[in-house]
Amino acid sequence: MYLKRLDELADNSRMISGIHNYCDRWCERCEFTDRCLNFALDREEKKEAEASEIGVDDSEAATKVVEQGLQSTLELVRKMAAEAGVDLEELGVAEEHPPQDPREGAREHPCSVAAMEYTGIVDTWFETRTDLFRNKAVMVARQVVADFPGSDPESEVNALKENVDAIRWYQHFLYPKIMRALGSAEHERERGHDDEFPRDSAGSAKIALIAMDRSIDAWTHLRNALLDDTDSILDVLAHLERLRRTAESEFPNARAFVRPGFDEIP
Ligand code: SF4
Repeated sequence: MYLKRLDELADNSRMISGIHNYCDRWCERCEFTDRCLNFALDREEKKEAEASEIGVDDSEAATKVVEQGLQSTLELVRKMAAEAGVDLEELGVAEEHPPQDPREGAREHPCSVAAMEYTGIVDTWFETRTDLFRNKAVMVARQVVADFPGSDPESEVNALKENVDAIRWYQHFLYPKIMRALGSAEHERERGHDDEFPRDSAGSAKIALIAMDRSIDAWTHLRNALLDDTDSILDVLAHLERLRRTAESEFPNARAFVRPGFDEIP
């Protein structure tokens, strides 16, 4: 049943092939949910789980559903590859134990080190800057009471929340994407790359760079909104800016990468 549904979804011509590979995984805010196979699969898996009446605590049964899902996905990939005349064994995709994780060497790279540091920097900043948010709350409360002409406290609060959400979302997104970009670049160097196909390293680096752009914008908004007189945010921005420059020079073609869906459809 699951495989049949999977087949139908994969055959749906509205689906954009590979769109989920270079998105920011923020499905709640994605305008392509109805054209993304990954999103559809997640929904199907949830439905399957609900149909089997799996409780949150029933981890054994839940694992079974995940295993079934993975097995069905693998079968579908094999079927699609066979139809396209691609030999997975030859590509090494079907190897049970790949010789070495190409990302191993990427951990020490300045980009991955800086991306990992950034994760901690964000946590520390939010833990130690609660006073800035408190001051802001007092300021907004005064605006509400005084009802100054032209002031819009609600929009101000919404914008602040929006930017905090963005910072928090991309905080944990950067490192894995940078690692994937570096790992793929290593893989492409080792095994060679057919230039007829897009480079995964460039696509992964592009979405990492987009995440940095959005994080920088969000931090800049926070700096203005919270009136950070100690300029702790400037240090965070400097760290991100350095990371962005290093990533851009490591992946000079990343910005030009055309992401399926996002960069194709106006
Ligand atoms: S393309 Fe959109 S719907 Fe699909 S995984 Fe990415 S964010 Fe989610």
